[in-house]
Amino acid sequence: MGDFNDLLEANDLYAETFSDGGFDGIAKAGVLVITCMDSRIEPLGMLGLKLGDAKILRSPGGRVTPDVLTGCIVGSHLLNVNRIMVVQHTRCAMASGTDAEVADKIIESSKMDLRGMTFGANPDQDRTLDFDVRLLKTHPAIKPRTKIGGFIYDVDSGKLAHVY
Ligand SMILES: [Zn+2]
Repeated sequence: MGDFNDLLEANDLYAETFSDGGFDGIAKAGVLVITCMDSRIEPLGMLGLKLGDAKILRSPGGRVTPDVLTGCIVGSHLLNVNRIMVVQHTRCAMASGTDAEVADKIIESSKMDLRGMTFGANPDQDRTLDFDVRLLKTHPAIKPRTKIGGFIYDVDSGKLAHVY
C-alpha cells in the first residue's frame, strides 16, 4: 500500500489549493489533442491551454488506436470538440523501429518474450501521421466540419510543426 505514498502526499498539497472544481467536462476551447504517452510532452502547456480547455488522448506514439478513435467520436458529438490535433513527436520510441524491434528491445531489457504482440511501432512516422489524419478526416462517425490536423512536436525545441 505504501508504493504510492509520495504521490498521495503531493496530492494532499495539490487539493489544499485546488480551486478549479465545479465545471463540467466539455473542452472549453473546443480542442482535442491526441499525442504520445512520452513524458517530455506537456499537451496543455505547449498550446497555451489550461485545465478544462481540451480533451487529451494519449497512446504509444500518439497513434489513433480504437480507444482514441472512440474518444474523438464522443468528443466531437458531446464534448464541444471542433478541432482535433494529432501530435506525434521527434525521437519517439514507437517511430524508431518495427513491432519486432520493440519486442527485441524488451527481451534485451527484461528477458520477457513479447514477440508477436502488436505495439503499433512503425519507423515511417510521416506515413503513420498522414494515415491517422486521413482516418479521422474521412471517418463517418466524427461530426462533419470538425477540423483535423497532423503535427510533429520537437521534444528538444518545444516547437510544433503543422504537417498535414
Ligand atoms: Zn513517443
